[in-house]
Amino acid sequence: MIEPRDFIRTRVVADIESGKHTQIVTRFPPEPNGYLHIGHAKSICLNFGVAEEAQGLCNLRFDDTNPEKESQEYIDAIKRDVHWLGFDWAGDIRYASGYFQQIHDFAVQLIRDGHAYVDSQTPEQIREGRGTLSQPGINSPYRERSVAENLDLFARMKAGEFADGAHVLRARIDMAAGNINLRDPILYRIRKIAHHQTGNDWCIYPMYDYTHPISDALEGITHSLCTLEFEDHRPLYDWLLDQLPSLPHPQQIEFSRLNLNYTVTSKRKLKQLVDEQLVQGWDDPRMPTIAGLRRRGYTPESIRNFCEKIGISKTEGTSDVSLLEFCVREHLEGSAPRAMAVLRPLKVVLTNLGEDHHEVITAARHPSLDMGERVLPFTRELFIDRADFAEVPPKGFKRLVPGGEVRLRNAYVIRCDEVIKDAAGEIVELRCHADLATLGANPVDRKVKGVVHWVSAEHSLAAEVRLYDRLFSDAAPDRGDADFKSFINAASLEVLSQARVEPSLATAVAGDRFQFEREGYFCVDAIDSVAGKLVFNRTVGLKDSWGSKGGQA
Ligand code: ATP
Ligand code: MG
Repeated sequence: MIEPRDFIRTRVVADIESGKHTQIVTRFPPEPNGYLHIGHAKSICLNFGVAEEAQGLCNLRFDDTNPEKESQEYIDAIKRDVHWLGFDWAGDIRYASGYFQQIHDFAVQLIRDGHAYVDSQTPEQIREGRGTLSQPGINSPYRERSVAENLDLFARMKAGEFADGAHVLRARIDMAAGNINLRDPILYRIRKIAHHQTGNDWCIYPMYDYTHPISDALEGITHSLCTLEFEDHRPLYDWLLDQLPSLPHPQQIEFSRLNLNYTVTSKRKLKQLVDEQLVQGWDDPRMPTIAGLRRRGYTPESIRNFCEKIGISKTEGTSDVSLLEFCVREHLEGSAPRAMAVLRPLKVVLTNLGEDHHEVITAARHPSLDMGERVLPFTRELFIDRADFAEVPPKGFKRLVPGGEVRLRNAYVIRCDEVIKDAAGEIVELRCHADLATLGANPVDRKVKGVVHWVSAEHSLAAEVRLYDRLFSDAAPDRGDADFKSFINAASLEVLSQARVEPSLATAVAGDRFQFEREGYFCVDAIDSVAGKLVFNRTVGLKDSWGSKGGQA
């Protein structure tokens, strides 16, 4: 049953209890002009969530009234993303374009009833005539056309007799209204282009503000939930439905949109990043799109949990992206198997082991969940991470140093006896001694503090590891007039092509997620990881490395 845990659910509960509605119907209405982003996830979780909790229905409706900016690619991506988040829409997919005939017929009705007229001013004249916040608009010279003339012109607009921009259909409301949206808003314009759903059936297309209330009403939507920027459009939404009494009248309710620091959530800007090839596509793992987050390794649960935590209100604010990162870390901590991967390998030779030493060590796939075991072949030659050895250790360094000891995770304590360098002075190999009395046991006579991860040189697998970081280095890349693209974090992607991973990962498939011990959470790249080439994306580190910089913006 639905709990009144925010003002929208409170309203829905009240409408059920008062008997106003017996079945709740919501809708998620994306325009297919880009991929969905994390902001849309908030709206999806709200619309589908409310419907689910109230045992109602939630429609997926494409608000497709701008054919020039829309495409089937976006439609397919949006459907995939909604499903992936774990939601399903009621019945068939809806399209506003599926209602074009009814929307047209209601326009004819509005004309007949004197509520709409064909305006033949130029677009500039219409804009100027609309006035400003402080100045009322002025009536169009065409405002008093007869119903017959309006019907004739509108029919000819539809028949394709006029060029784009020659005429528009406008509602006749009030050019002096304080709310500019009520100053005879445009209902229809001429656009002689094909539509991805209706082909060349139409050369006039209805405006969003006119289409939306009618689409909602035709679908029997009870609560039309939208973001706050539509608050000023609600009087128009209501006015239109008041003029069309044969239709039910859904209640529009606005909530604040999701803004995230270090992130842009505007399809227009995300499209710019894609078009200008500043990222590798809509699903680039640095993108805040659902497709990008998925490829990065985010789970649907973590995104839904994030939306739950930020909640629904009318207060504008900016959420902290580290909360999103926290949510995926929290989910993967309890669901991702562990593995060892050496991102920047340094060879270790255990001089007291024979050339053909091959020991089978097993380790749990997860420290607390029953995920079975994996095999870690232990051999004379291993790799550890370069960062886990220091010739001249900084203060507090607990890993391997010349003459020092460290524990190899799940295996033995080793001591570094010799550092081998190449002609250029670069360390190429460590010659070490393994204390064979220390498997699963501490040395009796001394304490060894550090633990490092490792893989067998011979049995490990080559892998490419992509270390992703935040796409923007500024907390508010979207602010003011600054060009958001100037804040791109130059270090947002580091590709490590020499990484080595433990052999159990040979069976990993696209999308599989792991905790690479001591490194973070990684997933198998769904596109570039193919037979013979393993590619892992870092989803998130083990800890919040942005620290206080990631604080509330
Ligand atoms: P953008 O501003 O990114 O272009 P939009 O609002 O134009 O987004 P739509 O496809 O119209 O994109 O959005 C579909 C639904 O998602 C709308 O109901 C819209 O209010 C909601 N939505 C869009 N962005 C956000 C956001 N940042 N937070 C919450 N809801 C959002
Ligand atoms: Mg929109």
